[in-house]
Amino acid sequence: MYCPFCSALETKVIDSRLVSDGHQVRRRRECLACHERYTTFESAELVMPRIIKRDGTREPFNEEKMASGLTRALEKRPVSTEQVELAINKLKSQMRATGERELTSEMLGNLIMAQLKELDKVAYLRFASVYLSFEDISEFADEIARLGSEKNGKDKKISKKLAQGN
Ligand SMILES: [Zn+2]
Repeated sequence: MYCPFCSALETKVIDSRLVSDGHQVRRRRECLACHERYTTFESAELVMPRIIKRDGTREPFNEEKMASGLTRALEKRPVSTEQVELAINKLKSQMRATGERELTSEMLGNLIMAQLKELDKVAYLRFASVYLSFEDISEFADEIARLGSEKNGKDKKISKKLAQGN
């Protein structure tokens, strides 16, 4: 590919490694003309399952939509852009790994929540509180309590804060 900085054609690969559980190759490249460095990702192009919405209608999977949902949940959280990208790639791999041609939005929501739970507890709760449309606040509190007992005191403090609505 052409160098994104100067459009020269000659670039060399200076580092190559597998990322997102081996589903992607990340290559660090350097332009031989201007010496700028940039990163390319290579992954197999596979058809993503379509999404069955709650009302039964189908729509194509929209990666941008998923990415913006994740980004919103992770706003002002100590999670790097690279971690978010990896989470998105992981999610896509998981979606393909189901082998299904169609997935319910509920299934997708659960995959996203599992991913966020690993990444950042606060972001997970933000997403879950919107996504799960809790019947009442006690359900939300139950979920928080469950999270609190899973981890250490620091998480408990955050959970308590959230439960109080601060
Ligand atoms: Zn260049």
